Amino acid sequence: MLSKISLLCLGLVCTSMGVSAELAQTSFELSTIAEGVYVHHGQHLDIDDGYQGDICNLSVIIGNTGVAVIDTGGSKRTGMQLLAAIRRLTALPVRYVINTHVHPDHTYGNAAFVGEHPEFIGHDKLAKQMLTRQAQYEKLNQRLLGADGTDSLTIVPTQAVQTQLTLDLGGRTLTVQAHPMAHTQTDISVVDDKTNTLFAGDLIFAERTPVIESDLNGLIAVLEHLNQQQFSQIVPGHGKESRDQASIIGNALRYDRALLADVRMSIKKGISMENTMETAAQSERERWLLFDIANRRNVNTVYPQLEWE
Ligand SMILES: [Zn+2]
Repeated sequence: MLSKISLLCLGLVCTSMGVSAELAQTSFELSTIAEGVYVHHGQHLDIDDGYQGDICNLSVIIGNTGVAVIDTGGSKRTGMQLLAAIRRLTALPVRYVINTHVHPDHTYGNAAFVGEHPEFIGHDKLAKQMLTRQAQYEKLNQRLLGADGTDSLTIVPTQAVQTQLTLDLGGRTLTVQAHPMAHTQTDISVVDDKTNTLFAGDLIFAERTPVIESDLNGLIAVLEHLNQQQFSQIVPGHGKESRDQASIIGNALRYDRALLADVRMSIKKGISMENTMETAAQSERERWLLFDIANRRNVNTVYPQLEWE
């Protein structure tokens, strides 16, 4: 426990000093959460504050004949660290690299896996969205990640998921499900059928404040739909995995519903978006990390959409 805390503290200090590179190399952790299932937890940093390309969950599932990776991190460097950690576990080929959605913190590690020749798997709309955002995201990567941003190329899916897809890893299958507009327009979730583990991508956040880029009503509907199934464990896009489905989905839904109700009420009362940024979902403020910055952005996304309801 002590060593974990001191490592974490070191990480924070070093990041603020801009010398995290060597430390990150040595402290890249891949934890086992079920038989043949591993998760790397990124740090809870905002993309505008200390972003180092390693802020989300990266998952690895190992079958009898191959490996699947779910999200690759925000830079080729993070992807290389993930690949090195996989190689410490197995020599089996990486058959599938799955991106849960378009956001750069989840996709720009893809570049590290090109030499493995996997299928890159994503939502039907992912390739187009990645290419539409390519210039913006590559510029962002270079600004925020410096040299690490330069070789983090945009690698689009080679196989699109329209509704559902089954991937075979030998002795275990993954079910990949494409969703309608929710966190983004490109959300997929993955279930490891052997352990009944749900990898939810950013449909679910734990610890840090949920983010909505696309459709809040859609996100709530997708979460309610997922909640009709029973999973043995859920890996969110950010934050710790949980075997307590009622809590991890319930927390996300509670925030999303509070945001929806409060923004609707503001619009009804004629309260401006600027003022709503300070008031909406404040009942959730103490429950989440990075609340103010994420919640303001969410209001900025959701308010203009709900005005047209
Ligand atoms: Zn995201």
